[in-house]
Amino acid sequence: MAEPLVRLEAVTKIYRMGDVELRALAGVSLDLQPGDFTAIMGASGSGKSTMMNLLGCLDRPTAGRYLLGGQDISSLSNDELARLRNQTLGFVFQNFNLLSRTSALENVELPLLYSNVPAAERRARARESLERVGLGDRLDHHPNQMSGGQQQRVAIARALVNRPRILLADEPTGNLDSRTSEDVMALFQALGQTGITVIIVTHEPDIAAYAARVITMRDGLVRSDVRQAPRAATAQAGQEGHP
Ligand code: ADP
Ligand code: MG
Repeated sequence: MAEPLVRLEAVTKIYRMGDVELRALAGVSLDLQPGDFTAIMGASGSGKSTMMNLLGCLDRPTAGRYLLGGQDISSLSNDELARLRNQTLGFVFQNFNLLSRTSALENVELPLLYSNVPAAERRARARESLERVGLGDRLDHHPNQMSGGQQQRVAIARALVNRPRILLADEPTGNLDSRTSEDVMALFQALGQTGITVIIVTHEPDIAAYAARVITMRDGLVRSDVRQAPRAATAQAGQEGHP
C-alpha cells in the first residue's frame, strides 16, 4: 500500500490547567491514505476536536508522533509548520467563519494574501475555487446575502484555494438543514474523487453514512474504525437560490 498521507503513532494530548491534567487523547494510532473520506464520530468530550487540531497542525502532540506526508511534524519549527499547514491543509468550520460584508471572491482570496501570490492570480484562483463549488455566478455576493448552504460552499472554496491535499471540517453541516447538508456532502464526495483527503467530524450518523470510513472516539481513544460503502450524496438539481 502507498505510504500513508497521515500517520498518527500513539499520539497523546494532555491539557494542563494549573494542577489539573486532562488527557484529551490517550494514545491514538491511525493511518489515512490519500483520497480517504473519513468521518470522526463520538460523544462530546471524546477528543474529536483535539484530534482535528493535531491533524491540522494547529497543535502538537504531548507524546507520540504525527507524520504528515512522511514528515515528522515535531521536527519542524513553528514557521515551517505554518507553511506546511498553508500548503497542505484546508479548514472548514461549523459557522463558516466568513467576513459577512466582503464579497465571496474576496473571502476566498484571503488565504492567498499570506502567500505572496500576485493580485491577478489571486483573483483567478479564487474564481476557479468558487466555480469548483458551483458558485461561479455568485462572486460578488456577500455572505449575508447568501443561504447557509451557499455560505458553507464559499468557505469550502476558501479552504481549497491553496490547493490542499487534506480538507478538515469540524461539524460542517451542524448549522445546515438535511437537504443542504446532502449538497455539502456531495461536494466533499466529489472533492474526494479528485484525490483530496476529506476528514469531517460529525455527530450525525446520517452524515457519517456518506463517508467511506467511520472512526468513533471514546475517552480519547479510537473505539471503532470501520470501512463502509458510502451512501451516494446527490447535489440538488440546479443550485439553490435559482428559480
Ligand atoms: P470533542 O470535540 O469530542 O467534544 P474535545 O477534543 O474538544 O472533544 O475535548 C476533549 C477533552 O479535552 C474534553 O474533556 C475537553 O474538555 C478537553 N479540552 C479540550 N480543549 C481543551 C483546552 N484547550 N484546555 C483544556 N481542556 C481542553
Ligand atoms: Mg468538538
